[in-house]
Amino acid sequence: MEKEKLFEMAGEVYRNVPAYINLARDRNIDITSLTEFGQLPIMEKKYMIDHETGNIAPEMIREYMTGNLISKRTSGSTGQYLEILWSDADYKRSMIELWLRRGQYYDIYPKDKMLYFYTYNDGNTEYEYYKNTIGINKRLLLEECIEETIEVIKNVKAVWALFQPSVAALLCAYIKKHYEKSPISFKYVEFSGEVLTETVRETAMQVFGCKVADQYGANEVGSIAYECPYGNKHIMRSNVFIEIVDDAGTVLANSEDLKTAEGNIVITSKTNRTMPFYRYNLGDKVKIKNNSCCCGCGGKIIEVVTGRWNDYAVFEDGYKIHSYIFVEIFDFINKITDGTVKQFYIVQKSYRQFDVMLYVDDEIDGEYIERLFLTKLENEHLKTSEFIFRYTDQLFEVCNDKKYMYFKNQTSKEW
Ligand SMILES: [Zn+2]
Repeated sequence: MEKEKLFEMAGEVYRNVPAYINLARDRNIDITSLTEFGQLPIMEKKYMIDHETGNIAPEMIREYMTGNLISKRTSGSTGQYLEILWSDADYKRSMIELWLRRGQYYDIYPKDKMLYFYTYNDGNTEYEYYKNTIGINKRLLLEECIEETIEVIKNVKAVWALFQPSVAALLCAYIKKHYEKSPISFKYVEFSGEVLTETVRETAMQVFGCKVADQYGANEVGSIAYECPYGNKHIMRSNVFIEIVDDAGTVLANSEDLKTAEGNIVITSKTNRTMPFYRYNLGDKVKIKNNSCCCGCGGKIIEVVTGRWNDYAVFEDGYKIHSYIFVEIFDFINKITDGTVKQFYIVQKSYRQFDVMLYVDDEIDGEYIERLFLTKLENEHLKTSEFIFRYTDQLFEVCNDKKYMYFKNQTSKEW
């Protein structure tokens, strides 16, 4: 039933949305001759990035032109940039199941004050306020301002926080080193955006004195899976349809059948009608298995085998800085150059030497990007380091295990 309905909706998308019309044409597929969902082509992220402007439903173009859509472009946490558009109504719909479960499991509701950190940088913004949420620029986690930021967090008295694991790790490490008793506590902390390790999970529970849950999501589709109190991440069935495929594209299992499988996750959004994602290869490797959990949730269980994972840049004197600083810089560059950087990858070769791999729009002058990048390096350790820029003419694979999506530290020092 599920797949039939999605197949019908996909037909509409393949008739109307340029990116999908082109995909069928490029693959030589006559969509009208297909009889089931699994025969539709798989959309690779690279193809989507190359056809970004063609992936808007025609009836939403007017909304786009009048600035009435939500744009999620600014997140560069995977090292690849794609502007994601949502209508307000669809975005809210994509969040319903997540909110129901937050309430059911952790007693957290939309009215509760929430704190988060953001990488988005428009120059000087340090905080952003929207309804009962407060966002803090990740720049304020730098060693020289973290003490003040902790004071701000303390005064905000947020009920819960949404953290990337690397942010929580940084905050917790600082608090453990400088305080006997943590000045910050939350009722609940939710993790997303990167792989959550057991160490970070336990440290956060201990330092913030809270319950924690891991959420697996992507800007393209919103929330994909959410952890219940028994430690299982259940698929958000009302928001996504998931297929697990092998490298040849053969389907091994989906979110509605009774199979267990490990492979590439291919996602179909059930809620984003502005920018449709049908059979979209997200680029993560996951395992899905049958629901044997006693929490009462119906969704199959998902485990992320490889996902986004970050790292620190380290220096000879022991100073370290989280690699999110580079995301912030490229977010800034993309903001003022209208999204010309499609992918970046930085390798720290030695304490003072970095390689920067870039895939940028043809029209933009690389030297201009380099100049912007170097001007934004406000940190003394980075400012006095050498950066070597290399360019590619297409999206690139970063490494086999896909552990580090935008940064890799190759210095010998272990952190
Ligand atoms: Zn469960």
